[in-house]
Amino acid sequence: MNYQSTRGGISNVTASYAIKNGIASDGGLFVPMNKINLSVSEIERLSTLSYTDLAAEVLGMYLTDYSPEELLDCTNGAYTKEKFETDSIAPVYKLNENTYILELWHGPTCAFKDMALQILPHLLTRAIKKTGEDKEVVILVATSGDTGKAALEGFKNVPGTRIQVFYPDNGVSEIQKLQMTTQEGNNVDVVAVKGNFDDAQTGVKKIFTDKAFADEIAEKGFAFSSANSINWGRLAPQIVYYFAAYCDLLRNGEINAGDKINICVPTGNFGNILAAYYAKCMGLPVGKLICASNINNVLTDFINTGVYDRNRNFETTVSPSMDILISSNLERFLFHATDGDTELVSEYMKKLSEDGRYEVNDKLKSIIKDNFYASCCDDDTTIETIKNTHDKFDYIVDTHTAVGVYAYNRYVEETGDTTKTVIASTANPFKFNNSVLSALVSKKELEGKDEFQLLQMLSDEGNIRIPKSLKELKNKFVRFNTVCERDNLKEETSRFLNI
Ligand SMILES: *Cc1c(COP(=O)(O)O)cnc(C)c1O
Repeated sequence: MNYQSTRGGISNVTASYAIKNGIASDGGLFVPMNKINLSVSEIERLSTLSYTDLAAEVLGMYLTDYSPEELLDCTNGAYTKEKFETDSIAPVYKLNENTYILELWHGPTCAFKDMALQILPHLLTRAIKKTGEDKEVVILVATSGDTGKAALEGFKNVPGTRIQVFYPDNGVSEIQKLQMTTQEGNNVDVVAVKGNFDDAQTGVKKIFTDKAFADEIAEKGFAFSSANSINWGRLAPQIVYYFAAYCDLLRNGEINAGDKINICVPTGNFGNILAAYYAKCMGLPVGKLICASNINNVLTDFINTGVYDRNRNFETTVSPSMDILISSNLERFLFHATDGDTELVSEYMKKLSEDGRYEVNDKLKSIIKDNFYASCCDDDTTIETIKNTHDKFDYIVDTHTAVGVYAYNRYVEETGDTTKTVIASTANPFKFNNSVLSALVSKKELEGKDEFQLLQMLSDEGNIRIPKSLKELKNKFVRFNTVCERDNLKEETSRFLNI
């Protein structure tokens, strides 16, 4: 399988090239150049495999310059019971007759980003060797909270790599901030940016496209790479768990082979839901993809009208990992949905960067309508959904997943479609304990409580166990307290690399 840029400037490169480089030199994203078509019987066979074996097989369809043994090494190294505290890695919880929660947050940082970022370092370090790179690879990450910590955990102490994470100073939860500022490892750095996530992301993108800076660091023996969800090495591992969920339902007799399911995904950068779209395109029987957004509802509008318009206020919400106005991975969808029309994709992306807005043609609008349904909700409704879900099912969802549950309920109300649906659950509720608790107890009970008292309270309230990694934060030393202006990211990178 070879890869090309969504903007047409580069093609016929290997998976390891795409993974090593992260973003294409023309500013586009790497996409696979061929389609994969799986039959129902092949999917039935996949349902007999363990998560690590399944992952190696699915990844093998895309990462054809990795041997099956290499991929098994990668998946066995990434998805261990020790790190995920469960054999099934991504367990499916049955909420009711038609609704299933795909719990993607059993990894070391309690968010679904671990599903990709635990394996990315394995894929990347091999990609570096395969492409003959001899430089030390510097991973730069802009994060709205979860990616940063997951990337730090994935890359800490990985030989031949360094990682620097930028997060919006006031855009992450207390727990998220603590998780990052206490990060261990001899190759890591963490910086708060005065601004929002888009400021951090724009700053990092600027560094990545600064040719002179790239030459400068190359002279000192460094090469940049990205661990953001634009990296193909992030996206490919996310396809796996949609297969795993389908196989799980199949094995448990919840569905028959070939039955369609719907998939609902709380969405920000459009990475996680795009992975579900890839799974569908590969032949996984999927009906509708339900795209759930918070009040930063640029994707809801896009799916409903065909107009992508980022000219709106950026809102800070209780689901901060979805506070995004530029959903980078949408570019990959546009590429595939136009059958690889790189000129058209480039035109839309040019309009987006110049006017902050583009409108897709009628053909695309109808493809979008066929595949997606979209809805959004505000913070009050998010909190209400957490409460209702707990009352009804005795199950606690985090703020991001709650947005998904809400969008799914709206979908069923509007369409009457009772197709079995898997809702991607993207974070452990403990990670957003304050907001989650505000749905379950009175304000008064929360007053004056520190993060660790809140963890205990949520544990008592839901009769659920506090994840070890969060409990341990209490005794950790804060290593990183640098704050930088949003135009100064490059200076921080120079400092980190000592150049
Ligand atoms: C990153 C994240 C999302 C959004 O995922 P995208 O791939 O950016 O759409 C949703 N929920 C949580 C908890 C996240 O960390």
